[in-house]
Formats: sequence, C-alpha cells, structure tokens
Amino acid sequence: MTSISQNLHSVEQRIADIAKHCGRSTQEITLLAVSKTKPESNIAAAYAAGQRCFGENYVQEGVGKIMSLSHLPGIDWHFIGPLQSNKSRLVAENFAWCHTVDRLKLAQRLADQRPDHLPPLNVLIQINISDESSKAGIHEEALFQLATEISQLPRLTLRGIMAIPAPEPDYTQQLAVCQRMAQLYQQLAQRFTGIDTLSLGMSDDLDAAITAGSTLVRVGSAIFGARHYPSPSV
Ligand SMILES: *Cc1c(COP(=O)(O)O)cnc(C)c1O
Repeated sequence: MTSISQNLHSVEQRIADIAKHCGRSTQEITLLAVSKTKPESNIAAAYAAGQRCFGENYVQEGVGKIMSLSHLPGIDWHFIGPLQSNKSRLVAENFAWCHTVDRLKLAQRLADQRPDHLPPLNVLIQINISDESSKAGIHEEALFQLATEISQLPRLTLRGIMAIPAPEPDYTQQLAVCQRMAQLYQQLAQRFTGIDTLSLGMSDDLDAAITAGSTLVRVGSAIFGARHYPSPSV
C-alpha cells in the first residue's frame, strides 16, 4: 500500500469510529479528499485506493487536474475555494459542485455559464458561521433569501450549505458552532426540496462536525500530507 492509501483508510476509519460513537451510519457521510497544491499522481493514488470525491481551491490548478485526469471515470470534482466572479465560467464548465456560493451575482453567472450538455451544477451556500473577520460566506440571516433566489435559477441544484468555522481548540465550542450549522441546514431542508448536503468538518473539527450531523467532511493534509509550498494565487 502507498502511504496515501494508508492515510485514506485511516481517515475513513476515523470517520467510521466517530459515526458509530454518535449512532450515525457511515453511509451518510461523504469524504471529500482536498487535493489543493498536490500533484496529479497523488490524486491518481487516492483514486486507485477507491476515493472518488476530490476538492480543489484554485480555479486554474483545479481545471488543469480535471483535464489531465479525465481518463479516470467517475470522479466528482468539488470547487471549495473563494470564487471571483470573473473565474466563474471555468467552475461552471468543469466542476460538478461549487461549495462557496455566497452572492446572487455569482450564482447567476454560474447558472448562465453551466453548459447544457452537463447535469446542473450542485451548489452549496457558504455561511460565515463564526469568523467575523473573514469576508467569505453570508451571514446566517441572509440564508433563506439567497436560497430562494438560487432555487429559481436554471442549471443549478441547491444541495445545502457549507462553512469553514474559525479555528477553535475547545471541543464544546466547536460542537456549538457545528450544531448551529446543523440547525440552519435542517431549516433549509424543511423549506426547500433536494437539500441533502451539510459540508462541514476538517481535520481539526471532524468529531464535532460529524456529531452535529455533517454529511460531507473535507480532509486534505491527513490524506496527502502537509502542504509544503505556498498556494498559487487562484
Ligand atoms: C484546505 C481546505 C481543507 C482541508 O484542510 P486540511 O487542513 O488540509 O485537512 C478543507 N476545506 C477547505 C475549504 C480548505 O480550503
């Protein structure tokens, strides 16, 4: 086994242990392997070990990998980075998911630019749940308005919400933030059809996120190792 496949299996095991501990089925939880800054060979190694969902943060880097790995069937590519409107076309044309929709203008561009031959783009609304200093994500009070507008756009399927909580070492605090997200997610699911994805939980808050009800966790370095070189600028 390569170390990537070993790492992948231990992350899967960790997810299974947490799920079991809180009485959830592992099947409810998708592992997104975050491959930003990592070479295509690492993605191919994770693919060979059975991984199918990959997350990329930088548009050009992600599209380059999507093109060169297009011979591998069944990969689900998720865009999870901040998205400038002028880069939206590359996401609309190449990815299956966008987790970081936080304004109507961006959603409208993605809807206009999603090619007809592809299935609708799956979108998540990013919520600024705890990090007041971050500009990414909408405030929770704005969620239902934006969800209503997005649900009326063609070529997009609203699937749920996503957050990147501010780093917080204390488990109780982590859980409180994750539960707030889970509450918003349930409210959204009551008002809109097709809501099935709560994208929440990274290496450091995996326990709290899964316990609160996350359906998709995003893990990078625990699978691919630490990122050694600085991220390219979008
Ligand atoms: C980089 C990143 C991750 C994964 O972070 P790791 O610390 O490598 O596990 C998850 N979500 C988002 C949005 C990221 O940008």
